[in-house]
Amino acid sequence: MSLDRIVIVGASLAGLRAAEELRARGHEGVITVVGDEPHRPYDRPPLSKQVLTGAKPPESTTLAVAAGSIDDLGLEWRLGESATGLDLPDRAVLLGGGERLAFDGLVIATGATPRRLPGTDHLEGVHTLRSLDDSIAIRAALAAGPRRVVVVGAGFIGAEVAASTRSLGIEVSLIEALAVPLERSLGPEMGAVVADLHRDHGVDVHLGVGVVLIEGSDRVERIRLSDGSVLEVDLVVVGIGVSPNTEWLEGSGLTLDNGIVCDATCLAAPGVVAAGDVARWPNERFDEVMRVEHWDNAIEMGEHAARTLLGDATPYTPVPWFWSDQYDRKIQLAGLASPDDIVEVVSGRLEDRRFVAFYGRAGRIVGVLGMNQPAKVMRWRSLVETGASWSDALAVAAATD
Ligand code: FAD
Ligand code: NAP
Repeated sequence: MSLDRIVIVGASLAGLRAAEELRARGHEGVITVVGDEPHRPYDRPPLSKQVLTGAKPPESTTLAVAAGSIDDLGLEWRLGESATGLDLPDRAVLLGGGERLAFDGLVIATGATPRRLPGTDHLEGVHTLRSLDDSIAIRAALAAGPRRVVVVGAGFIGAEVAASTRSLGIEVSLIEALAVPLERSLGPEMGAVVADLHRDHGVDVHLGVGVVLIEGSDRVERIRLSDGSVLEVDLVVVGIGVSPNTEWLEGSGLTLDNGIVCDATCLAAPGVVAAGDVARWPNERFDEVMRVEHWDNAIEMGEHAARTLLGDATPYTPVPWFWSDQYDRKIQLAGLASPDDIVEVVSGRLEDRRFVAFYGRAGRIVGVLGMNQPAKVMRWRSLVETGASWSDALAVAAATD
């Protein structure tokens, strides 16, 4: 199949890295990038960290490319425009204005959208955080000197926003429905370490409680929690997870099930690939169907999907990887971690918040978690890559710590 015209929907990390890889592999045809935000691709990790604290200006988040300038890629940008549908038989992306963009190859990298708390859309002072504009708005609200910020959800957004806000000296309450923060991502033991980290920095942590009502006439004024407590508040940041952006693909013929369902090579249909937060695929390394909502995966999967589009049929089998910066701690996870895994600290001590823990499942090591131990996480990540047995992994850690 000749690939004269490639369309990429989603002008962010996965989409840009796919475009770069297409050019790096010699694709000389037209590449059109459709993005519903007005901005050129930018990096999201600083949005909950340095942009909120003011340590980095918003414009510093613009993404660069590996070689030269982004303009050297010769992309056709359609920014500020939404894809509203996909005509798979006729191979065209439908745009909001009614235009049809014909393609020979399509990369879908539309990411995810934050879930909102119902009944809060009319209230000023209630924010979600996904985009550069969201971050700028929260930064402005923090700079106005709120007496108290309530963060709903102690996942990654919640934990990072709480840390950034505390570092500005502002009172923060953190509300989490689970008994332990980050339990689904890190398991109960490590989640508890993160809860203590926040308590020790003066965050008022409420676990195992939900939000019953957010009250206020125009602006948010107070929050009622399921344990009966009431918090007076000037600013609320909601981080209760995301939904993959697949609504525009309903009825297109692609399989949608908590994301775009792809095969092991990132192919969603002939000539159509998906990558990043929106894509779900069987990762043969772990024999698990996954959708990964982290930075490294958006890059790797964007590049892999581009190669698949050009005819490479290699399965995508990454060891997932993420980091999270909270206060002066860097949390890193290579591999997988779930609440049912065995967890063993193999270096350092939890109480020092400087340690490495291994996660084990079915006799194998599946994850390496570090807090302020980047070198050891990098060193022992290869144990997950090679699928080392649990006992061999522990022996290697004991011998090389
Ligand atoms: P996105 O970055 O979500 O981009 C998708 C783009 O597609 C968006 O611009 C969206 O507006 C656009 N779009 C959606 N629908 C349409 C449509 N119909 N038509 C046109 N355009 C559309 N990960 C880490 O590993 N470490 C971190 O420290 C970290 N920090 C983060 C901090 C924040 C505040 C956020 C929000 C995320 C963070 N992440 C982090 C996660 C990481 O940034 C994401 O995994 C990554 O951005 C996913 O890239 P993506 O290209 O798949 O999707
Ligand atoms: P998340 O990590 O999925 O966490 C959401 C948390 O909110 C979960 O613990 C969830 O519990 C809880 N929750 C759900 N509904 C709630 C409610 N009504 N009240 C209180 N708590 C509730 O999602 P996120 O923190 O919103 O982050 C959004 C996206 O940004 C994710 O894709 C994330 O990976 C990404 N991100 C990543 C990083 C990083 O990697 N460092 C940093 C920032 C953002 P349940 O599990 O029970 O639903």
